[in-house]
Amino acid sequence: MSGDYEVRRVDGTYAIFHGDEQIGKSCAPLDYMLDRAWALNRKAERARRPKNRACLTCGETFLSEGPHNRMCKSCRAKGDDLVPHGPALSCRGPTRVPA
Ligand SMILES: [Zn+2]
Repeated sequence: MSGDYEVRRVDGTYAIFHGDEQIGKSCAPLDYMLDRAWALNRKAERARRPKNRACLTCGETFLSEGPHNRMCKSCRAKGDDLVPHGPALSCRGPTRVPA
């Protein structure tokens, strides 16, 4: 499945459509709109395609369903106490160790 996004002419300008849904209107040149539609299609296609990734939790390689899917099946089955966005992985900087 490809070509989900396409550029159509609407009221004298060009707009990007996703199926029959218009997702924005612009007076930008056609070249620019075609580039944008191409980028959107590429992104959608990448997101759909299953891909081998390393599990965030155990490092095991597994077939990911997309960007939202970063843990292998067995780690996900272990439950929500292994949420990767927990405080242990905070980006606030080094944890201060009490002396
Ligand atoms: Zn895992």
